[in-house]
Amino acid sequence: MAIPVPRTWDAGQPRGDRSLRKAFSIQTSSQVPLKQGRSLMDWIRLTKSGKDLTGLKGRLIEVTEEELKRHNTKDDCWICIRGFVYNVSPYMEYHPGGEDELMRAAGSDGTDLFDQVHRWVNYESMLKECLVGRMAIKPTIPKDYHEEKKVLNGMLPKTQVTDTLTKEGPGSPSYDWFQTDSLVTLVIYTKQKDINLDSVIVDHQDDSFRAETIIKDYSYIIHIGLSHEIQEDFSVRVIENVGKIEIVLKKKENTSWKRLGHPLENHNSLIPKKDTGLNYRKCQLISKECVTHDTKLFCLMLPPSTHLQVPIGQHVYLKLTITGTEIVKPYTPVSDFLLSELKEPVLNNKYIYFLIKIYAAGLFTPELDHLQIGDFVSVSNPEGNFKISQFQELEDLFLLAAGTGFTPMVKILNYALTNIPSLRKVKLMFFNKTEDDIIWRSQLEKLAFKDKRFQVEFVLSAPTSEWNGKQGHISPGLLSEFLKRSLDRSKVLICICGPTPFTEQGIRLLQDLNFSKDEIHSFTA
Ligand code: FAD
Ligand code: NAD
Repeated sequence: MAIPVPRTWDAGQPRGDRSLRKAFSIQTSSQVPLKQGRSLMDWIRLTKSGKDLTGLKGRLIEVTEEELKRHNTKDDCWICIRGFVYNVSPYMEYHPGGEDELMRAAGSDGTDLFDQVHRWVNYESMLKECLVGRMAIKPTIPKDYHEEKKVLNGMLPKTQVTDTLTKEGPGSPSYDWFQTDSLVTLVIYTKQKDINLDSVIVDHQDDSFRAETIIKDYSYIIHIGLSHEIQEDFSVRVIENVGKIEIVLKKKENTSWKRLGHPLENHNSLIPKKDTGLNYRKCQLISKECVTHDTKLFCLMLPPSTHLQVPIGQHVYLKLTITGTEIVKPYTPVSDFLLSELKEPVLNNKYIYFLIKIYAAGLFTPELDHLQIGDFVSVSNPEGNFKISQFQELEDLFLLAAGTGFTPMVKILNYALTNIPSLRKVKLMFFNKTEDDIIWRSQLEKLAFKDKRFQVEFVLSAPTSEWNGKQGHISPGLLSEFLKRSLDRSKVLICICGPTPFTEQGIRLLQDLNFSKDEIHSFTA
């Protein structure tokens, strides 16, 4: 089930082939054409109209399982998500995935179905006027406060860490801390060798300190209310060969700390990444530059009290409040390496760049475009399933991008050309409607001139009569000519990203050309 907002609101896109989605982990929800007056903006307006959407006149109730089960029809449909029950009947016609998808969870707990499709969607805000109440639950035994407090002076006993470990998860990480007069160093022992600076996300705000370390598909969380004040900035160091992370905090006052602090939510637990929730911090808009007639390069600055690096091939979610409702959309950061000839390269990793197309009739991007320099946007932790190990021993890299589907290719291109010694060839086939839509065309052409391993081809679907280059949509003819290996059995990776029909069609064509699942990476939400 996909509850609220889609990735895009492109009603009219064909429904995807489900087996293809499964095989290539395309986890987008199918979208159905919505009736006039049933857009996301229309829904937001309805929720602000003061209409009683639950039928309970604003009263919140405790819902038993039996009660929930009774509300299982389109006109009377209650769904439970993470313990909260919503009357989604008024939302039916606004749901981009259609009524049938929503009905799959009617009268039941839809949390798993929801998480499978859009765990990032901010349903709490979207459906707040539909809230019926909480599920009635049995009381749980509270944790022993004294035990939690005691262990925070140093490393925790193993038994506590393993509380949340599952059998298939990585070995139990742990932490410790020590201090000098002016510094407090927190050490995380991940017991993994493939840990780097991208693997840890640190935020502190007031006295709350949170470090999330990504270990395979799990997050190890340190979350503490610090006992003393610290300065805003801190440093993070990774000792890769032993999988150790050191976070050095600067004390505000040179006093000796008797304890680090008190535990906050999920402290010292290892939980599947998909269950951690998206953590946001407010980032400031530093610049906004036109790249094409409708695409802009946005530069956001992370707060000094955050350490976050978005790994190659991953995206983040941007969150804005639009007419009182929090709206979240995914965006893929780019690096500025293609601009480095024009500008001083920015080495400071406090900046995140986004290439974003502004859709005049869209919900989120016009709002983003209206932001002034100095305004704030919330940015989530990174997500995505691209793995750097896919580059191992790689000889030929083929990139198929359409429109803003170019964004994940920017970092991939940079990484491959600078870090993969085995690489012989990188080819980008870039699909756009017109010449004016091509992002960073001259920069790409310059790169091809400078680095003989790189080639770029532009394909236009709606060119003017002056266009001499390739035209049309993704097709067997275009692909078979483009995807020539440099050696008979060279190791190949093909990355594909663009509108859903483009990506789905591309994958089908690649399969027909006998490329295996391991040789194809598709970018989706
Ligand atoms: P929407 O409101 O979603 O509208 C999009 C289009 O659909 C518009 O043309 C609009 O006119 C049309 N539309 C809206 N409502 C309807 C309706 N009811 N019926 C018919 N048509 C309608 N985009 C980027 O620019 N850069 C990125 O780096 C980027 N990264 C992404 C990463 C991922 C993983 C994914 C899944 C998407 C990414 N996107 C990116 C797309 C982005 O998330 C948004 O979908 C996009 O910005 C449009 O958002 P919007 O709210 O402005 O438009
Ligand atoms: P666009 O409408 O400008 O189209 C660009 C090209 O895509 C077209 O010229 C055409 O060649 C191809 N195309 C478009 N519709 C097609 C169809 N129905 N069938 C076959 N080919 C088609 O593209 P845009 O507005 O820049 O949209 C880019 C898309 O990429 C968005 O849907 C966005 O969500 C997606 N995107 C996804 C990710 C990701 O998943 N990581 C990242 C960035 C962008």
